[in-house]
Amino acid sequence: MRPEILFPLFKPSNTIKGVGPRIFGLLSKLAGPNIVDLLYHLPSGYIERHPIEDLSEQYLGKHVIVTATVIKHFPSRSRKVPYRVQLDVNGQKLTLTFFNGREDYLKRQLPPEQRRKIYGKLESYSQDFQITHPEHMVDPDAPDQVERYEPVYPLTAGVTNNVLNKVQKSALDTVIDLPEWIDPHLLSREKWMSWEQAMKAVHSPQGAEDIEPTSPIRQRLAYDEILSNQIALELVRESMKRKKGRVLAGDTGLNRKAEDVLSFTLTAAQREAMTEISGDMKSPYRMLRLLQGDVGSGKTVVALLALVQCVGSGAQGALMAPTEILVRQHLQSLGPIVEKLGLRIELLTGRLKGKARAELLSRLAAGEIDILVGTHALFQDDVIYHDLGLAIIDEQHRFGVHQRLALSSKGRPENNGVDVLVMTATPIPRTLALTAYGDMDVSVIAEKPPGRQPVETRAIDLARLDDLANSLGRKLQVNERIYWVCPLVEESEVSDLAAAEDRYRYLEALYPGKVGLVHGKMKAEEKDSAMQAFKDGHFQILVATTVIEVGVDVPEATVMIIEHAERFGLAQLHQLRGRVGRGGLAGSCLLLYAGPLGETQKSRLKIMRETEDGFKIAEEDLRLRGSGELLGTRQSGLPEFKVADLSVHGRLVQIARDDARAFLGSDPKLNSPRGQAIRTLLYLFERDNAIKYLQSG
Ligand code: ADP
Ligand code: MG
Repeated sequence: MRPEILFPLFKPSNTIKGVGPRIFGLLSKLAGPNIVDLLYHLPSGYIERHPIEDLSEQYLGKHVIVTATVIKHFPSRSRKVPYRVQLDVNGQKLTLTFFNGREDYLKRQLPPEQRRKIYGKLESYSQDFQITHPEHMVDPDAPDQVERYEPVYPLTAGVTNNVLNKVQKSALDTVIDLPEWIDPHLLSREKWMSWEQAMKAVHSPQGAEDIEPTSPIRQRLAYDEILSNQIALELVRESMKRKKGRVLAGDTGLNRKAEDVLSFTLTAAQREAMTEISGDMKSPYRMLRLLQGDVGSGKTVVALLALVQCVGSGAQGALMAPTEILVRQHLQSLGPIVEKLGLRIELLTGRLKGKARAELLSRLAAGEIDILVGTHALFQDDVIYHDLGLAIIDEQHRFGVHQRLALSSKGRPENNGVDVLVMTATPIPRTLALTAYGDMDVSVIAEKPPGRQPVETRAIDLARLDDLANSLGRKLQVNERIYWVCPLVEESEVSDLAAAEDRYRYLEALYPGKVGLVHGKMKAEEKDSAMQAFKDGHFQILVATTVIEVGVDVPEATVMIIEHAERFGLAQLHQLRGRVGRGGLAGSCLLLYAGPLGETQKSRLKIMRETEDGFKIAEEDLRLRGSGELLGTRQSGLPEFKVADLSVHGRLVQIARDDARAFLGSDPKLNSPRGQAIRTLLYLFERDNAIKYLQSG
């Protein structure tokens, strides 16, 4: 249960005075329904007000606070003329201007001969100083109500900054001292304030530096969030580790035979990854491991060896990939090797139906299949394994922590679930990997198999498209394959986008019968068969929207042309480029851009020309775009943070990771005073799920 100390923070914001149903609805949309959501809706800027004695030109355009005496009202005589009030500041004239000003109201606010403290932006009007619609007009003797600095919040239509400021003031009243969850040494080393102080300070910025994500105030609050993420992941990890798995020691003879059957020797990086995976499988605990490696780094072979070790231990293995075509590709490459070893491998996708499916399932349940390769169909409810020992998920970064855990439930109950290996070809910067996959152990294949030719990358002005298209003939003569990627299909709302269909017709006119098309509007089966036809060489130029399946292997592909490359993210460009130069032939990647390019776009194209190192590219992508947009998709399974910005706070992720591990090592049940405080932290960030692992552990 949520600790009582947090109750006031988790009240809905309509419990704040002055927040009616309309504002409540808007605030819920803007920040979230509860007071705590408002508190984590941080200022994006501030207004600085200058208290001044005399009017002077140096303050023009700035927000000032000035005390003045009211002289005379000039009510407006027509709608077009504003209401004006003349005041005196030490002998200087100040005009207050109100459009549609109401006389009775203004006379009450600004009684003649009275002194008033005026807040507003100083402007000049003909020869005079003027303030249009002052923000505040108060009795100078009344206690100060308005701060010299006023935070400026991200807003939504219907909520003004004034309103939000008032609401935030009330929200801040609920902020009290919470028990400190941050390690005291870290707190003093970083010179961070307490949560209470930081929360109050972040809502009253006193200068530009207080808005920066690198300010100590924001770092403290970001660290809270990152620490809660790392503690939660570590709790999941620990509860997995504590769960007994089975020992999949493998059969030494079979393992060796598998390596002999391969036509190459493993790279050092593959061998190292395999050693780590093999070690996990042999241990009596469950494996939950991420295998990261750039496109073409040779993950599939590692997966194969893991499957062989599993089957050699008498259990079954499953390999899941996101699309039918990838599944079939796996079967094509693994099948011959697996059969040489005398193992039985089968394919299960959504397309297998009726009797054939029933038959396959009954063989699976009887243990007559050793390795099952397939799509999501592998984990449907009615798919029952005889004895599943290892589940491998390829090219999949859309799974969340809890789905990953669910996958491991297909094993025999008495064996406590299965070992899980997740493979991804999307290089993820270390900090991101720690926050998204922190519950997993990570192996990285950072080197590529020998003999790969580098891919030459060039940026070319879109104006030269005709020249480029005409030059492709040479490639076609030697039967090389060409990808031509366009950003969007036809009826897109943006009319100047190169339509894939137009491009298809254009190229088909140049090279009749040699061009094919795949786009996002096609059915999965149509897409697959077009990809297959390209792979089989029925045509040589594939015009595609960005649907080219990541991971589809076409060894003859040597040229990747990307139109409007400036619209793509780095990670995407890198994935696309990885499609060529895989068969030992030199590849080239041509980035067609339409100028003029912005700075970020220029940097992206430059990085692409400079490096093929996926991890370097991913780090740059994070730096250029911020973590939210990375991988180009919100459903990427990456966590979203409210305060933390991983492109800036990477250092804190590492600290939090180490701290979470060390602390849970000494207090796994969170019983000590700091442990209790950390529980509060988890609830503060609504990681109630993590607490469950603690209790069930
Ligand atoms: P990934 O799945 O990481 O994209 P693959 O496992 O599909 O990469 O490997 C890409 C290609 O490299 C395949 O054709 C594979 O046979 C080949 N390959 C893998 N490992 C090696 C190696 N150690 N030496 C030579 N070729 C390799
Ligand atoms: Mg692969």
